Amino acid sequence: MKVVIVGGGAGGLELATYLGDKLGKKPDHEIVLIDRNSTHLWKPLLHEVAAGSLDAEIDSVSFRAHAHAHHFQFKMGCFSGVDRNKKVIHLAPVLDPEGEEILPQRDEPYDHLVMAIGSSSNDFGVPGVREHCKFLDSTQQAVKFHDRLVNQFIRLNRKLIDDPSACLHVAIVGGGATGVELTAELFNSRNLFSMYGLHRIKDKNLKVTLLEAGPRLVPALSEKVSAAVLKDLSALGADICLNTQVAKAEPHVFITADESRIEADMLLWAAGIKVPDFMAEIEGIETNRINQVIVNKHLQSTNDEYIYAIGDCAGFPLDEKRWVPPRAQSAHQMALLVGKNLVRITKEKPLVEFHYSDKGSLISLSEFSTVGVLMGNLVRGDTFNVRGKIARIAYISLYRMHQIALHGWIRATLMMVSDKINHILKPRLKLH
Ligand SMILES: Cc1cc2nc3c(=O)[nH]c(=O)nc-3n(C[C@H](O)[C@H](O)[C@H](O)COP(=O)(O)OP(=O)(O)OC[C@H]3O[C@@H](n4cnc5c(N)ncnc54)[C@H](O)[C@@H]3O)c2cc1C
Repeated sequence: MKVVIVGGGAGGLELATYLGDKLGKKPDHEIVLIDRNSTHLWKPLLHEVAAGSLDAEIDSVSFRAHAHAHHFQFKMGCFSGVDRNKKVIHLAPVLDPEGEEILPQRDEPYDHLVMAIGSSSNDFGVPGVREHCKFLDSTQQAVKFHDRLVNQFIRLNRKLIDDPSACLHVAIVGGGATGVELTAELFNSRNLFSMYGLHRIKDKNLKVTLLEAGPRLVPALSEKVSAAVLKDLSALGADICLNTQVAKAEPHVFITADESRIEADMLLWAAGIKVPDFMAEIEGIETNRINQVIVNKHLQSTNDEYIYAIGDCAGFPLDEKRWVPPRAQSAHQMALLVGKNLVRITKEKPLVEFHYSDKGSLISLSEFSTVGVLMGNLVRGDTFNVRGKIARIAYISLYRMHQIALHGWIRATLMMVSDKINHILKPRLKLH
């Protein structure tokens, strides 16, 4: 049996690891992971990379080394389509940054295909957004944002000699988890840059405007959590504009539906998600409004039992109105279910059904605070609003659980110790 997994993110890499460990050494079984990049970084860390509180180089996992340790194959490639009749996927050529071809266009046959390509920001067709805004959809984008942020802070420190009221202004669209977490991280970066030599920069020299179309921040969470996030971000000095619809982006300016202009040095777009359009173009595959593959209770495409989808690119209906949310915990649970079912197929056992279990959601406001809700199996009872240390531990444990799924308890514990040592030895911010 040959399983091809496309996308080595929160869900895909956990699945490849699980299947590699279970089936990779057995004869007649082949597990292949395909990703357009050569390393994996857990996506919920991207806002920390963007702000510089995390170094992507240190926390990235090399697909090749991980594949070797867990008995699966890694092939670099960018999925561009599938021929369902021939059961092959098409991979676009891989080019280096100079545009020179590294790998040609190829086909990869499969018996079972698992789509785990994640999602990217949804610009909702707002004019100018693609051209003038930064996004946090990939490690490369987060690193680029960070490089620019470093230069902006250096520039600002110089400018403050002549103009003590100079200010770096970052405008962010989207009051979901990415927008609010990045806002808090930026204030932390300002404090640390000021500490690490850019002494002229004071609190008033960073302005962050967060624009949200809805009536509250983090709308997926309870009103109580939204209110706590609003209060904490306002206390940091963020300018929060609720019920503010952005109608257009131009160089260094957002224009709202009521024609207000928000001018800023850096524009970031983090409003909603969407799966790439090519997913909806695969013939005979049922997709929803945001191009997610609609899946059945076994996470197979409703039209093709040999194609599975997990994580952000899977549309699993919870009821008539709601879908499983695009979160790391959903990707983790889906990867585990598909892994178990593919092993069951090799043993000719019936497939088990997917049941989403919401463990809660947490928002980390950098060093300042962590707020959220915990529910289900993590604590007794139904729903708990949490804050402070307990919330912080629960938030960090999400990443630790991902590391355990990839590396096992022993290596994950060693990584935790190594992180603690790095925390002592290295600067608290990536300064270059
Ligand atoms: C800044 C930020 C903060 C977040 N914070 C949280 C949080 O606190 N808690 C939470 O639960 N969730 C959070 N999320 C959401 C979470 O990261 C996603 O739900 C989760 O990563 C989805 O996992 P996935 O496996 O579906 O996709 P991803 O983790 O996005 O992985 C997709 C993989 O597919 C690869 N790929 C994409 N296209 C192709 C292609 N055409 N060919 C080959 N490979 C391809 C990519 O390189 C990537 O490796 C956050 C997201 C962001 C951006």
